[in-house]
Amino acid sequence: MRLLVCLDFDGTLAELDPDPYAVRIHPDAEVAIRRLAAIPETEVAILTGRHIEGIKQVLPADLPVTLIGSHGAEPGPLLGKEDQNYLDHIENQLKTFATDGAYVEVKPYQRVLHVAKVQNPDTAQAILAAADTIDTHGRPKTHGHNVVEFSAVEITKGTWLNAYKQAFDRTIFAGDDDTDEHAMAVLDDTDLGIKVGTKPSRATRRVPDVDAMAQLLTQLADEREAWSATR
Ligand SMILES: [Mg+2]
Repeated sequence: MRLLVCLDFDGTLAELDPDPYAVRIHPDAEVAIRRLAAIPETEVAILTGRHIEGIKQVLPADLPVTLIGSHGAEPGPLLGKEDQNYLDHIENQLKTFATDGAYVEVKPYQRVLHVAKVQNPDTAQAILAAADTIDTHGRPKTHGHNVVEFSAVEITKGTWLNAYKQAFDRTIFAGDDDTDEHAMAVLDDTDLGIKVGTKPSRATRRVPDVDAMAQLLTQLADEREAWSATR
C-alpha cells in the first residue's frame, strides 16, 4: 500500500513566529518524518506556501522529503510576460501598504503582503483590508494568517495534491490554515485529513497544536513500521 504523507509546514510542523526564518521544525516531527521516509512505499512531502528557497532555509538540508513550494506552483513552469507584468503591477501596489512593519514578500509566482510585524492589531487589519481592494483581474487571491497573497497562477495546494496523489493508494494530509482546505477538498474516503488548531475545516481529524501533530506523526511512524515489518 503506497502511502503519501503530505504536510504543511508553518503552524503544522513548526510554530508560527512573526519572523518566518526564526522557526525550526518540531524535533519529534523531524524524527518521525525521517522514520517514515525510510519505510518502503512511503513518501513524505512538505507542501508549503513558502517558496522553495524559503522552506529550504528552515529545514535540515538532508531531510528526506519532497519539497513543494508556493502552494504547489514550485517547482513548475516558467511564467509568461503577461504573468510577470501582473506580478510587477501587484508588487508596486502592495508596496504602498508596506508601512508600520508591513512588508511585501516576493515569491516566484506570488506577491504577499505580511502584517505579522505590525504592532497594532487594528492597524494590521486596516492594512490587509486596504490591500484587499486591489483589482486582481480575476487572478487568485488568498487570505492566510496575517497575510494576503496575490498569485499569477491558478495552482493551489489542492490542484497539486490531486495530481500527485494519483501515484499512491492512500494520502494523509495535514495543515492548519485556510489555504490547506484546497488540499483537504481533494482527499478521498480512504485518505485522511488532519487539521492543526481551531480554524474551520472539512478534515475528519483534528489536533490542537504543533506538539500534538508531532506526536501523531510519531504514532504514524510506529504503525507504518509495524505494517512494513509484517510484509
Ligand atoms: Mg500553515
